[in-house]
Amino acid sequence: MLERPKRKNPVLRTRLPTLPPAARSRIALGLTAAAALGRFELQQCRACGSVQYPPREACRKCLSTQLAWRAQPRGGELLSETVLHHSNDLFFRERLPWRLGLVRLDCGPTVVAHLHERVPAAPSRVNVDVKLDRAGQAVMVALPSEENANMAEDRQLREFTCDPRFRKVLVTDGKSLLGQSLVHAFAKAQAELIWVGYAEPWKKFAGFAELKALPQVTLLPLDVTDSKNVREVAGEIGGKVDILVNNAELHRTYGIANRPGIDTARAEMDVNYFGLLRLAQEFGPPMRSRGADGLASAVAWVNVLSIYALANFPAHGTFSASKAAACSLAQCLRAEMRPAGVRVIDVFPGPIDDEWNQLLPPPKLAPATLAAAVVKALQEGVEDLYPGDVAQEWLARWRDNPKALEREMSA
Ligand SMILES: [Zn+2]
Repeated sequence: MLERPKRKNPVLRTRLPTLPPAARSRIALGLTAAAALGRFELQQCRACGSVQYPPREACRKCLSTQLAWRAQPRGGELLSETVLHHSNDLFFRERLPWRLGLVRLDCGPTVVAHLHERVPAAPSRVNVDVKLDRAGQAVMVALPSEENANMAEDRQLREFTCDPRFRKVLVTDGKSLLGQSLVHAFAKAQAELIWVGYAEPWKKFAGFAELKALPQVTLLPLDVTDSKNVREVAGEIGGKVDILVNNAELHRTYGIANRPGIDTARAEMDVNYFGLLRLAQEFGPPMRSRGADGLASAVAWVNVLSIYALANFPAHGTFSASKAAACSLAQCLRAEMRPAGVRVIDVFPGPIDDEWNQLLPPPKLAPATLAAAVVKALQEGVEDLYPGDVAQEWLARWRDNPKALEREMSA
């Protein structure tokens, strides 16, 4: 059973983050890309159909170089297992004992996998998943073949995921429908403490009382366009936040020709892009320093971006541009947080069912659905989230042909 982490003794030094070995070939990054999306894909030969692992330049059966990443069945058989009680690798040495096994996948290859504690002794059936480790690289994890309510509590599995249970979460904007849905979703996922930011504290907002009534919630004035305010809030709670969710957003529906001047575009940039930069400058360093703080370490930073970051939607043109800028900055943040093992998760929703998308036809993503998807992404440890049918479809089109998506968006 997972226990609530003890209060930290402030006199004790914080452990420096260590990472599992991270070197991978360029080809092996195909597995990382699939794991980032939560997909179980292996290299499959287009010529003879055989599935292989680890990734290689050519098919090990027929030497064809026509290899594609394809979704594979997750089932397999645990052939043998071992428990490490010693490791020359610092990351694993701090986490011993560590359980590993050899799994023969139903699709062909035999892989070395990290073993969940509930996997029965070999030989036994398992489900294999590919997860990102703290170094951001894809690794195989074998889970029990039957789902179990407390599966996420496994000590080893938690090294690959960012489950909010017993963790302290900051949601930067509690005023929006999405922000309120996020807070309720984190409360349901048993977050220990939820700080909820709200700008313009002199204005009461709908949903304020419901948030305040939740025992885990602390409301605090937070305006991501105010550098001084962001710095003060980070000084107060930055050293305690385990998961930061930046959902602060300004969304107007203008292109270039239908709005003179740059005031609106600048305001969008100030929240959507500079807001992220301000948060990253103030909360990034304390979170980085707590990447290895035992069970209660800082684990994740979530950015709510937009599918319009991939290709501009001219009817929401300046908004799209601000989200594209934020998307680029989030990649920088990801690179800077990775050495500490803190995962940056980017969320690319399609149109959300809110006041700024009123004129768009359905399907639109309900805020509660999006919030649940964010919590699930943390529990499963993915890095890129495209929630809902619209986002999934646009992602597929963008991967297939970015130019075609650009044209389709402007039609
Ligand atoms: Zn082949």
